[in-house]
Amino acid sequence: MIDRSQTHQVDVGGIPIGGGAPVSIQSMTSTYTYDVEPTVAQIRGLAAAGCDLVRVAVPNKRDTDALPAILEQSPVPIIADVHFHFERAMEAIAHGIHKIRLNPGNIKDRTQVDRVIAACRERGIPIRVGVNEGSVVERGDKERRAAQKAAISENPRDQLVALMIRALEDYMRIFDENDFHDVVLSLKSIDALIVIDAYRAAAARFDLPLHLGLTHAGPPETGRIRSIASLGSLLSSGIGDTIRISYAADPVHEVEDAKELLCSLGLRHRTEPELIACPTCGRIEIDLIKLVAEVRRKLTTIKTPIKVAVMGCVVNGPGEAEGADVAVFAGKGRGIIYVQGEQTRSVDEDEMLDALYEECLSFAARVERGEVERSSQAVNIVPPDPLPRAHAPANDVPSTANDVASPLVGDEKIE
Ligand code: SF4
Repeated sequence: MIDRSQTHQVDVGGIPIGGGAPVSIQSMTSTYTYDVEPTVAQIRGLAAAGCDLVRVAVPNKRDTDALPAILEQSPVPIIADVHFHFERAMEAIAHGIHKIRLNPGNIKDRTQVDRVIAACRERGIPIRVGVNEGSVVERGDKERRAAQKAAISENPRDQLVALMIRALEDYMRIFDENDFHDVVLSLKSIDALIVIDAYRAAAARFDLPLHLGLTHAGPPETGRIRSIASLGSLLSSGIGDTIRISYAADPVHEVEDAKELLCSLGLRHRTEPELIACPTCGRIEIDLIKLVAEVRRKLTTIKTPIKVAVMGCVVNGPGEAEGADVAVFAGKGRGIIYVQGEQTRSVDEDEMLDALYEECLSFAARVERGEVERSSQAVNIVPPDPLPRAHAPANDVPSTANDVASPLVGDEKIE
């Protein structure tokens, strides 16, 4: 159980952020916001994937003009991402947006910030103050810029974190002077270690909720590693109240990965089956990778969070599948299926997928009827007997693992 940092709580259209509320998942549309139909379709897709809050870009007035139609059709609260033009924030607020994101690097005018704060206060709308590494270096004063650049080249990690925290402190002074505290903070960088340091510093300095993110992560194949390394580290130490993983791809992948990250850390309850599978090795005797892909596809139809294991042999499989509700141990031509530690079926390879799926459906239905509890105990799977080769009579299964040499494991002992 992770001991989470205590932060002030804000409400974003009914979704609480901070103050011990569940870590919420955010994403951002990649459509033109003024194009209402595809924007709403993408928001719905994100919500269906498990996204709690969706941000939309509003660079132009035609984008804020589209907000009423989007808000009316969206199943989740919507956040307006405002850069450079404070007028977009004022328009979004007037249209009933649920949250505003401001970047201190490009909306600096005190009067403008005061006006946005006053409008948000009047309507009970929180603001995210989002600092990005890319906008903290001085742009106007050449001498100051040169000094900052020189310091960064000497020690990029510490210097950039210090600049990000200073930018946040300067901006937050405006909010303090307005006595406005419904604020969420973010400090994003493209560097995983800077993200970790910056958020740790912010968590020590502020009691406001933190929106975690690593920006410009790239495609999922590589961006996933940097994102999970940094966000996972912070979340596991109790830091973070809402997260956005950002990829150069369909944003639904951001939500899928954010959800898996939170479930893996025990910060969110699973609502769908969890699939574990062996990585395969030189003992494998079937195309397990293909089987796992097929099982994964079939499990998407089940909406009960059962735990399913697909294992390639009886050597290490049983120990690693302990705790699985439904497990299959696949061998040459056959598979043995277990349901909560009890062997239920021994089937030919070509029946394995359907048989496993049937057992999953049946177990999920029993869970739904309250007849059994999923993962209610550390189910101890007794190593199955060696698998008979394909087409051997079903009753030709040896009674113990040591009765015969396994066609799967050769001379290896099952321990
Ligand atoms: S379960 Fe068997 S086949 Fe799979 S990785 Fe472990 S030893 Fe290899």
